Amino acid sequence: MAAAQKLLEWYRAGARDLPWRQRPGTPLPADPAWPYRVWLSEIMLQQTTVAAVRGYFAAFTARWPNVAALAAAEDADVMQAWAGLGYYARARNLLACARAVVAEHGGRFPHDEAALRSLPGVGAYTAAAVAAFAFGRRAIVIDGNVERVVTRLHAITTPLPAARGEIHSALVALTQPIADAETGEFAQGLMDLAGRICTPRNPQCPMCPLHADCRAATAGNPENFPVKPPRRSRPLRLGTAWWIEAAGMVLTVTRPPRGLLGGMRALPSSDWRDADTPPLPPVAATWSDLGAVAHGFTHFELNLRVHATRLPHRPDIDGDWVPVATIADTGLPTLFAKAATLAYAHFALQEP
Ligand code: SF4
Repeated sequence: MAAAQKLLEWYRAGARDLPWRQRPGTPLPADPAWPYRVWLSEIMLQQTTVAAVRGYFAAFTARWPNVAALAAAEDADVMQAWAGLGYYARARNLLACARAVVAEHGGRFPHDEAALRSLPGVGAYTAAAVAAFAFGRRAIVIDGNVERVVTRLHAITTPLPAARGEIHSALVALTQPIADAETGEFAQGLMDLAGRICTPRNPQCPMCPLHADCRAATAGNPENFPVKPPRRSRPLRLGTAWWIEAAGMVLTVTRPPRGLLGGMRALPSSDWRDADTPPLPPVAATWSDLGAVAHGFTHFELNLRVHATRLPHRPDIDGDWVPVATIADTGLPTLFAKAATLAYAHFALQEP
Protein backbone atom coordinates (compact mmCIF):
# COMPACT_ATOMS: atom_id res chain seq x y z
CA MET A 1 0.00 0.00 0.00
CA ALA A 2 1.25 3.53 -0.81
CA ALA A 3 2.45 5.61 2.15
CA ALA A 4 -0.32 8.17 1.52
CA GLN A 5 -3.01 5.48 1.80
CA LYS A 6 -1.51 4.16 5.03
CA LEU A 7 -1.57 7.65 6.48
CA LEU A 8 -5.17 8.27 5.40
CA GLU A 9 -6.31 5.00 6.99
CA TRP A 10 -4.52 5.85 10.22
CA TYR A 11 -5.97 9.37 10.25
CA ARG A 12 -9.53 8.26 9.53
CA ALA A 13 -9.38 5.70 12.32
CA GLY A 14 -8.42 8.15 15.05
CA ALA A 15 -8.64 11.79 14.00
CA ARG A 16 -9.23 14.36 16.72
CA ASP A 17 -12.66 15.93 16.68
CA LEU A 18 -12.10 19.63 16.03
CA PRO A 19 -14.82 22.21 15.28
CA TRP A 20 -12.98 23.45 12.20
CA ARG A 21 -12.32 20.07 10.61
CA GLN A 22 -14.58 17.93 8.47
CA ARG A 23 -15.22 14.49 9.93
CA PRO A 24 -12.65 12.22 8.23
CA GLY A 25 -13.90 10.19 5.27
CA THR A 26 -17.07 12.32 4.87
CA PRO A 27 -17.94 15.00 2.27
CA LEU A 28 -17.15 18.63 3.03
CA PRO A 29 -19.90 20.35 5.07
CA ALA A 30 -22.48 22.23 2.98
CA ASP A 31 -22.63 25.08 5.54
CA PRO A 32 -21.84 28.33 3.62
CA ALA A 33 -19.82 29.50 6.64
CA TRP A 34 -17.52 26.46 6.40
CA PRO A 35 -14.68 28.18 4.49
CA TYR A 36 -14.85 31.03 7.01
CA ARG A 37 -14.39 28.57 9.89
CA VAL A 38 -11.48 26.88 8.15
CA TRP A 39 -9.78 30.18 7.37
CA LEU A 40 -10.34 31.58 10.88
CA SER A 41 -8.90 28.47 12.52
CA GLU A 42 -5.85 28.51 10.27
CA ILE A 43 -5.09 32.15 11.09
CA MET A 44 -5.53 31.44 14.80
CA LEU A 45 -3.41 28.30 14.71
CA GLN A 46 -0.36 30.04 13.24
CA GLN A 47 2.30 29.70 15.94
CA THR A 48 -0.31 28.72 18.54
CA THR A 49 -1.49 25.35 19.85
CA VAL A 50 -4.86 23.68 19.27
CA ALA A 51 -5.50 23.79 23.02
CA ALA A 52 -4.96 27.56 23.09
CA VAL A 53 -7.15 28.18 20.04
CA ARG A 54 -10.26 26.17 20.99
CA GLY A 55 -11.70 28.81 23.34
CA TYR A 56 -10.91 31.73 21.03
CA PHE A 57 -12.43 29.92 18.05
CA ALA A 58 -15.64 29.21 19.97
CA ALA A 59 -15.87 32.83 21.15
CA PHE A 60 -15.20 34.31 17.70
CA THR A 61 -17.66 32.08 15.85
CA ALA A 62 -20.36 32.67 18.48
CA ARG A 63 -19.94 36.45 18.18
CA TRP A 64 -19.15 36.65 14.45
CA PRO A 65 -20.63 33.50 12.87
CA ASN A 66 -19.68 34.31 9.27
CA VAL A 67 -17.28 36.45 7.28
CA ALA A 68 -19.81 39.24 6.74
CA ALA A 69 -20.38 39.56 10.50
CA LEU A 70 -16.64 39.75 11.15
CA ALA A 71 -16.15 42.27 8.35
CA ALA A 72 -18.74 44.53 10.00
CA ALA A 73 -17.16 44.28 13.47
CA GLU A 74 -15.55 47.20 15.25
CA ASP A 75 -11.73 47.02 15.09
CA ALA A 76 -11.39 47.53 18.84
CA ASP A 77 -13.82 44.66 19.61
CA VAL A 78 -11.85 42.25 17.43
CA MET A 79 -8.50 43.35 18.87
CA GLN A 80 -9.84 42.88 22.38
CA ALA A 81 -11.28 39.44 21.57
CA TRP A 82 -7.89 38.47 20.10
CA ALA A 83 -5.90 39.61 23.16
CA GLY A 84 -3.79 36.76 24.50
CA LEU A 85 -3.39 34.94 21.17
CA GLY A 86 -0.29 37.02 20.34
CA TYR A 87 1.08 38.17 16.97
CA TYR A 88 -1.42 41.00 16.75
CA ALA A 89 -0.67 41.79 13.13
CA ARG A 90 -2.68 38.63 12.43
CA ALA A 91 -5.76 40.16 14.06
CA ARG A 92 -5.45 43.29 11.94
CA ASN A 93 -5.01 41.16 8.81
CA LEU A 94 -7.97 39.03 9.89
CA LEU A 95 -10.23 42.07 9.71
CA ALA A 96 -8.64 43.32 6.49
CA CYS A 97 -9.12 39.89 4.91
CA ALA A 98 -12.76 39.56 6.02
CA ARG A 99 -13.49 43.01 4.55
CA ALA A 100 -11.71 42.14 1.29
CA VAL A 101 -13.74 38.92 0.96
CA VAL A 102 -16.94 40.91 1.39
CA ALA A 103 -15.92 43.87 -0.79
CA GLU A 104 -14.13 42.03 -3.59
CA HIS A 105 -15.59 38.50 -3.60
CA GLY A 106 -19.24 39.03 -2.61
CA GLY A 107 -18.72 37.53 0.84
CA ARG A 108 -17.44 34.18 -0.47
CA PHE A 109 -13.88 33.01 -0.15
CA PRO A 110 -12.28 32.25 -3.52
CA HIS A 111 -11.55 28.56 -4.14
CA ASP A 112 -8.12 28.56 -5.74
CA GLU A 113 -4.79 29.13 -4.09
CA ALA A 114 -3.69 32.08 -6.26
CA ALA A 115 -6.83 34.11 -5.49
CA LEU A 116 -6.64 33.17 -1.82
CA ARG A 117 -3.04 34.36 -1.67
CA SER A 118 -4.05 37.81 -2.84
CA LEU A 119 -6.05 38.30 0.38
CA PRO A 120 -4.46 40.18 3.32
CA GLY A 121 -2.61 37.92 5.75
CA VAL A 122 -3.01 34.81 3.58
CA GLY A 123 0.36 33.29 2.74
CA ALA A 124 1.30 30.13 0.87
CA TYR A 125 0.46 27.81 3.76
CA THR A 126 -2.93 29.32 4.57
CA ALA A 127 -3.96 29.52 0.90
CA ALA A 128 -3.14 25.83 0.40
CA ALA A 129 -4.87 24.86 3.65
CA VAL A 130 -8.08 26.74 2.82
CA ALA A 131 -8.14 25.43 -0.78
CA ALA A 132 -7.74 21.86 0.47
CA PHE A 133 -9.68 21.87 3.78
CA ALA A 134 -12.55 24.13 2.72
CA PHE A 135 -12.95 23.33 -0.99
CA GLY A 136 -11.40 19.90 -1.51
CA ARG A 137 -8.84 21.26 -3.99
CA ARG A 138 -5.58 19.39 -4.58
CA ALA A 139 -3.00 21.34 -2.63
CA ILE A 140 0.36 20.81 -1.00
CA VAL A 141 0.00 22.06 2.55
CA ILE A 142 3.31 22.59 4.33
CA ASP A 143 3.86 23.88 7.84
CA GLY A 144 6.65 23.25 10.33
CA ASN A 145 5.10 19.98 11.47
CA VAL A 146 4.78 18.66 7.94
CA GLU A 147 8.39 19.68 7.31
CA ARG A 148 9.50 17.60 10.26
CA VAL A 149 7.72 14.44 9.14
CA VAL A 150 8.79 14.72 5.50
CA THR A 151 12.46 15.47 6.23
CA ARG A 152 12.48 12.37 8.43
CA LEU A 153 10.66 10.18 5.92
CA HIS A 154 13.21 11.09 3.23
CA ALA A 155 16.20 11.79 5.52
CA ILE A 156 16.60 15.21 3.86
CA THR A 157 19.94 16.59 5.00
CA THR A 158 19.62 20.04 3.40
CA PRO A 159 19.05 22.56 6.21
CA LEU A 160 15.81 24.53 6.39
CA PRO A 161 14.70 26.77 4.78
CA ALA A 162 16.72 25.68 1.73
CA ALA A 163 15.13 22.21 2.03
CA ARG A 164 11.65 23.52 1.23
CA GLY A 165 11.88 22.75 -2.49
CA GLU A 166 12.83 19.13 -1.75
CA ILE A 167 10.02 18.86 0.79
CA HIS A 168 7.49 20.19 -1.71
CA SER A 169 8.66 17.76 -4.40
CA ALA A 170 8.52 14.87 -1.93
CA LEU A 171 4.93 15.78 -1.01
CA VAL A 172 3.88 16.03 -4.66
CA ALA A 173 5.19 12.48 -5.18
CA LEU A 174 3.69 11.19 -1.93
CA THR A 175 0.19 12.52 -2.72
CA GLN A 176 0.15 11.39 -6.35
CA PRO A 177 -1.69 8.10 -5.63
CA ILE A 178 -4.61 9.79 -3.81
CA ALA A 179 -7.59 11.81 -5.12
CA ASP A 180 -7.61 15.62 -5.19
CA ALA A 181 -10.24 15.79 -2.48
CA GLU A 182 -8.14 13.58 -0.20
CA THR A 183 -5.08 15.85 -0.15
CA GLY A 184 -6.66 17.92 2.61
CA GLU A 185 -7.16 14.87 4.83
CA PHE A 186 -3.66 13.73 3.96
CA ALA A 187 -2.23 17.06 5.17
CA GLN A 188 -4.31 16.96 8.33
CA GLY A 189 -3.15 13.38 8.87
CA LEU A 190 0.48 14.47 8.60
CA MET A 191 -0.16 17.24 11.12
CA ASP A 192 -1.83 14.82 13.54
CA LEU A 193 1.03 12.40 13.08
CA ALA A 194 3.51 15.18 13.82
CA GLY A 195 1.61 16.21 16.96
CA ARG A 196 1.00 12.76 18.38
CA ILE A 197 3.76 10.44 17.15
CA CYS A 198 6.43 12.16 15.05
CA THR A 199 7.17 14.68 17.79
CA PRO A 200 10.31 16.84 17.84
CA ARG A 201 11.74 14.78 20.73
CA ASN A 202 11.24 11.03 21.29
CA PRO A 203 9.14 10.21 18.22
CA GLN A 204 7.19 7.00 18.73
CA CYS A 205 8.39 5.28 15.56
CA PRO A 206 7.13 1.75 16.36
CA MET A 207 3.55 3.18 16.51
CA CYS A 208 3.89 5.13 13.26
CA PRO A 209 1.90 4.04 10.18
CA LEU A 210 4.84 5.20 7.99
CA HIS A 211 7.51 3.30 9.90
CA ALA A 212 8.33 0.96 7.02
CA ASP A 213 8.69 3.93 4.62
CA CYS A 214 10.83 6.12 6.85
CA ARG A 215 14.53 6.46 6.14
CA ALA A 216 15.34 8.30 9.36
CA ALA A 217 13.63 5.63 11.46
CA THR A 218 15.52 2.91 9.55
CA ALA A 219 18.78 4.74 10.25
CA GLY A 220 17.77 5.18 13.90
CA ASN A 221 18.30 8.96 13.91
CA PRO A 222 14.92 10.72 13.42
CA GLU A 223 15.77 13.49 15.88
CA ASN A 224 18.51 14.65 13.51
CA PHE A 225 15.77 15.98 11.18
CA PRO A 226 14.86 18.56 10.11
CA VAL A 227 18.39 19.95 9.83
CA LYS A 228 18.29 23.53 11.06
CA PRO A 229 20.53 26.40 9.97
CA PRO A 230 22.95 27.75 12.57
CA ARG A 231 21.02 29.81 15.09
CA ARG A 232 21.33 33.58 15.15
CA SER A 233 20.44 35.13 18.46
CA ARG A 234 17.73 37.79 18.43
CA PRO A 235 18.83 41.32 19.34
CA LEU A 236 17.78 42.80 22.66
CA ARG A 237 15.73 45.99 22.88
CA LEU A 238 14.95 48.02 25.96
CA GLY A 239 11.98 50.11 26.93
CA THR A 240 9.99 51.45 29.88
CA ALA A 241 6.30 51.17 30.71
CA TRP A 242 4.63 53.47 33.21
CA TRP A 243 1.91 52.44 35.64
CA ILE A 244 0.13 55.67 36.66
CA GLU A 245 -2.47 55.08 39.34
CA ALA A 246 -4.82 57.62 40.90
CA ALA A 247 -7.91 57.05 43.05
CA GLY A 248 -8.21 53.37 42.17
CA MET A 249 -7.85 53.98 38.42
CA VAL A 250 -4.90 53.32 36.13
CA LEU A 251 -4.03 55.06 32.88
CA THR A 252 -4.11 53.00 29.68
CA VAL A 253 -3.54 54.07 26.09
CA THR A 254 -4.33 52.66 22.64
CA ARG A 255 -1.19 51.93 20.66
CA PRO A 256 -0.87 53.45 17.17
CA PRO A 257 -2.62 51.32 14.52
CA ARG A 258 0.61 50.44 12.69
CA GLY A 259 3.57 48.65 14.25
CA LEU A 260 3.94 46.10 17.01
CA LEU A 261 0.81 45.50 19.09
CA GLY A 262 -0.84 48.11 16.87
CA GLY A 263 -4.31 49.17 17.95
CA MET A 264 -4.05 47.27 21.24
CA ARG A 265 -4.74 48.68 24.68
CA ALA A 266 -1.49 49.16 26.61
CA LEU A 267 0.22 50.95 29.44
CA PRO A 268 1.98 54.15 28.36
CA SER A 269 5.49 53.19 27.27
CA SER A 270 8.65 54.55 25.70
CA ASP A 271 9.98 53.54 22.28
CA TRP A 272 11.79 50.21 22.31
CA ARG A 273 15.41 50.87 21.40
CA ASP A 274 18.75 49.10 21.31
CA ALA A 275 20.35 51.57 23.74
CA ASP A 276 19.36 52.10 27.34
CA THR A 277 18.76 55.86 27.30
CA PRO A 278 16.46 56.63 30.24
CA PRO A 279 13.21 57.99 28.73
CA LEU A 280 11.27 60.93 30.11
CA PRO A 281 8.19 59.79 32.05
CA PRO A 282 4.80 61.14 30.89
CA VAL A 283 4.28 63.01 34.17
CA ALA A 284 6.52 64.40 36.91
CA ALA A 285 6.14 62.14 39.95
CA THR A 286 8.02 59.93 42.38
CA TRP A 287 8.52 56.68 40.52
CA SER A 288 9.25 53.18 41.85
CA ASP A 289 11.37 50.99 39.60
CA LEU A 290 9.71 47.55 39.77
CA GLY A 291 12.23 45.72 37.61
CA ALA A 292 11.68 44.44 34.09
CA VAL A 293 9.49 41.97 32.24
CA ALA A 294 10.98 40.02 29.34
CA HIS A 295 9.06 39.25 26.17
CA GLY A 296 10.09 37.63 22.90
CA PHE A 297 8.93 39.13 19.60
CA THR A 298 9.68 37.49 16.26
CA HIS A 299 12.74 39.61 15.53
CA PHE A 300 13.92 40.76 18.93
CA GLU A 301 13.76 40.22 22.67
CA LEU A 302 12.35 43.05 24.74
CA ASN A 303 13.23 43.95 28.31
CA LEU A 304 10.53 46.32 29.46
CA ARG A 305 11.25 48.14 32.72
CA VAL A 306 8.16 48.94 34.75
CA HIS A 307 8.01 52.23 36.65
CA ALA A 308 5.02 52.89 38.85
CA THR A 309 3.54 55.78 40.74
CA ARG A 310 0.42 56.40 42.78
CA LEU A 311 -0.88 59.97 42.63
CA PRO A 312 -3.51 61.78 44.72
CA HIS A 313 -5.26 63.13 41.58
CA ARG A 314 -5.45 62.15 37.93
CA PRO A 315 -2.93 64.15 35.90
CA ASP A 316 -4.14 65.81 32.71
CA ILE A 317 -2.69 63.45 30.11
CA ASP A 318 -4.26 61.60 27.18
CA GLY A 319 -5.53 58.07 27.67
CA ASP A 320 -8.30 55.99 29.20
CA TRP A 321 -8.53 55.53 32.94
CA VAL A 322 -9.74 52.08 33.94
CA PRO A 323 -10.35 50.64 37.42
CA VAL A 324 -7.26 48.91 38.77
CA ALA A 325 -9.47 46.01 39.90
CA THR A 326 -10.56 45.26 36.31
CA ILE A 327 -7.30 45.90 34.46
CA ALA A 328 -6.99 42.15 33.77
CA ASP A 329 -10.27 42.23 31.79
CA THR A 330 -9.37 45.09 29.48
CA GLY A 331 -7.65 43.05 26.78
CA LEU A 332 -4.05 44.00 27.52
CA PRO A 333 -1.69 41.97 25.33
CA THR A 334 0.60 39.58 27.20
CA LEU A 335 3.55 41.97 27.44
CA PHE A 336 1.53 44.69 29.19
CA ALA A 337 -0.43 42.15 31.23
CA LYS A 338 2.92 41.01 32.68
CA ALA A 339 3.84 44.63 33.45
CA ALA A 340 0.43 45.25 35.06
CA THR A 341 0.82 42.14 37.22
CA LEU A 342 4.15 43.46 38.48
CA ALA A 343 2.64 46.83 39.42
CA TYR A 344 -0.49 45.31 40.92
CA ALA A 345 1.64 43.04 43.14
CA HIS A 346 3.87 45.96 44.13
CA PHE A 347 1.01 48.10 45.39
CA ALA A 348 -0.82 45.14 46.94
CA LEU A 349 2.26 44.49 49.10
CA GLN A 350 2.17 48.08 50.29
CA GLU A 351 -1.46 47.86 51.45
CA PRO A 352 -1.78 47.76 55.24
FE1 SF4 B 1 8.44 10.14 12.28
FE2 SF4 B 1 9.35 7.83 13.25
FE3 SF4 B 1 7.15 7.91 11.72
FE4 SF4 B 1 9.55 8.34 10.67
S1 SF4 B 1 8.82 6.46 11.61
S2 SF4 B 1 7.69 9.51 10.28
S3 SF4 B 1 10.54 9.46 12.33
S4 SF4 B 1 7.41 8.81 13.77
